[in-house]
This record gives sequence, structure tokens and C-alpha cells, in this order.
Amino acid sequence: MAYSKNPDKKKIATLIATHKKHQKTLEPKTIFAQLKKGNKTALSESITLLESSKIDDQKKAQEVIQNCLTFSGKSIRIGITGVPGVGKSTFIESFGLYLISQGKKVAVLAIDPSSEKSKGSILGDKTRMVNLSVHPKAFIRPTASKGSLGGVAQRTRESILLCEVAGYDVILIETVGVGQSEIAVHSMTDFFLLLMLAGAGDELQGIKRGIMEMADSIAITKADGKNIKSANLARSQYKSALHLFPLNANKWSPQVETVSSTENIGVEKIWKIVLDFMKLTKLNGHFDLNRKNQQLYWMHESIKDQLMTNFYAEKSVTKKITELTSLLNQDKITSKEAAAKIVSLYKKTKI
Ligand code: GDP
Repeated sequence: MAYSKNPDKKKIATLIATHKKHQKTLEPKTIFAQLKKGNKTALSESITLLESSKIDDQKKAQEVIQNCLTFSGKSIRIGITGVPGVGKSTFIESFGLYLISQGKKVAVLAIDPSSEKSKGSILGDKTRMVNLSVHPKAFIRPTASKGSLGGVAQRTRESILLCEVAGYDVILIETVGVGQSEIAVHSMTDFFLLLMLAGAGDELQGIKRGIMEMADSIAITKADGKNIKSANLARSQYKSALHLFPLNANKWSPQVETVSSTENIGVEKIWKIVLDFMKLTKLNGHFDLNRKNQQLYWMHESIKDQLMTNFYAEKSVTKKITELTSLLNQDKITSKEAAAKIVSLYKKTKI
């Protein structure tokens, strides 16, 4: 054979064959079939397709998602937030392993607004969840670092569906307590858990009232050793603070508990709260209503996203923006006038 005389040719042929085989495994039908079997590689690869900027990959990803729709939705989706250092990853490790001990399969996803700047993902980092990340019943995916919060959030939402088809029954979505990303996570989860530190000076430690209002439960972390007393004190303070908020439409009153993730104390109480919440909201119809509202919310978010992408991809629009920026800088036009001219030009390109 010619190949045996030329080792390079043989290498290339092997590479091409491997590539072709890999391409075949990346076909939407193959991925979907593997996903349904709970194959983690297929799950990772389908999320990678979702995150890819290549049009072809995106098409494949959407085909996989389409197939997934009727098989997804069966998990409980839990958002977990709190300031850096509050103990999110340690809690997720302890909580995740507890859930696995209860027969669950656990997926961890993350939305990390800081990773856009640092180009690295801090949340959902496997090195921070050593035991959980190697467990066969756990799947951990760090946040995608590319793109706007809106884009990242959309992909995380679709990743939830993929995880559900792969058989994960509890999906934990981690985010850091800085505002916008919480709203995104809250809009894609059934239950929202806020982690708080006890005795960190100001009891509200920079967590905005709006975020407290979104919480279905607050967990006071690091309730061990000499922290126990202050954790219990914080618990009663947050309990009274939450009483001041009006009752949610779903009739759920948010609960406050103390946990120690390093000692594995209290994580089961958090799960009990989640189960009570599900029981109540499934019974009174708010569980399904919330998911329906979320779908609507994401449809509108997607419209905004697609319009923006389409708008800025229009060459005449970007040219006009540059032109008017100069007039704007010279105070010859107002921002509102400039925007109206640009939008009007955009509309004409669509006729
Ligand atoms: P994150 O930034 O919110 O993810 O916080 P980490 O989970 O990385 O925890 C921050 C620090 O708090 C680490 O040094 C942990 O070891 C420590 N920590 C987390 N949970 C507990 C706990 O339950 N008890 C104690 N004593 N320390 C904890």
C-alpha cells in the first residue's frame, strides 16, 4: 500500500478518518440518541455546539433542542446565588452529593457575569467541587465565557433542556450576587436559593432588597464552630425581615435555614424546603404557570436579542452610526434624534 511507504500520508489518513467519525457523532440525530441514554460526552458536545459561533453548529444545536422539547421539563431547576466567598461551591458540592445519596442525578450549570471580563469561568468550576465533579451521577459545566449576558443566559436555558433529556433530575444553576445575572437565573429556575453569611457587619451585606424578594429560601452558610451562634441570630433576623415582604402570588412563604456545607449539616433541610415548595406550587398550579411565564419572558428576550443582532449586522446602519457619532460629539444632534434617524434607516432596509 502507498500509505505504508509514506508514514505522513498514513497519519493524515488516520486523522481524516477520526475526524469523519467525530463529525458523524456530532450529527444531531446521533447526539440526541446518545443524550437520551445519558451519555455525558454527548451532553458536553451538544452544549459546545450551542456555544459555538459557527452557523452550522448553531443549526445542529437547534435541531438537537427541537428533538429535546417533548422529553425535557421533568427536573427541578434550582437557582443558587450569593456574594463571592459565601460558600456557593462548597454548598453545591455538599448538597449535590446529598441529592445523589437520595437517588438523584445532579447537573450544575453557571452564569458568571465576571467571566466576560476575565475570560475565565469562576463559577461552576470543577476544581472547586472535587468530589461532585468526578461522581458518575453528576455533570458540571462551567459558564460559557463568550457573549452578552442575554446570549449566555439563552444558552444556559437551552443547556437545562439538554441536561433534562440526559436524565438529570435536579439542575443547579449558580450565579454570583451582582444583579442582572440573578434576574436571568431567577427567570429560568423553579426555586431560588440565596446564600448569606452571618455576622458580616451589615446584615444585608450588599444584597439588594430585590434579590431578597426573589428568594424562595435563604440559607445562612458556615453555621459551624464559633459561627453557630451568629448564624442562628442571623436566621431569626432574616426571618423577621422576610415577614415584611408581601406574600407571593404562589402562596409560598420563604424559609430561612442555617447550613454547614463543610460539616454536611442542614443540607437535607434545604432539600425538604424545596420539596415542600414543589408540593405546594404543583398543587396550586403556580409551578406550571411560572414555567409558562418564563417561556414567554425568554421569547421576548430572544426577540430583543435577534433584533439587536440583525440591526447591528446591517452595514448601512453601522455606517450611519459612525456618521452620526461625529455629529453627536460636536453637539449638532441629540442622542434621541440620532437614534431616530438610524432606526428609520434600518426600517427602510427591511422594506
Ligand atoms: P463561593 O465563592 O461562594 O463559591 O465560596 P466557596 O464555596 O469557595 O467558599 C469560600 C470559603 O468559605 C472557602 O474557604 C470554604 O472552605 C469556606 N466555607 C464554605 N462553606 C463553609 C462551611 O460550611 N463552613 C466553614 N467553616 N467554611 C466554609
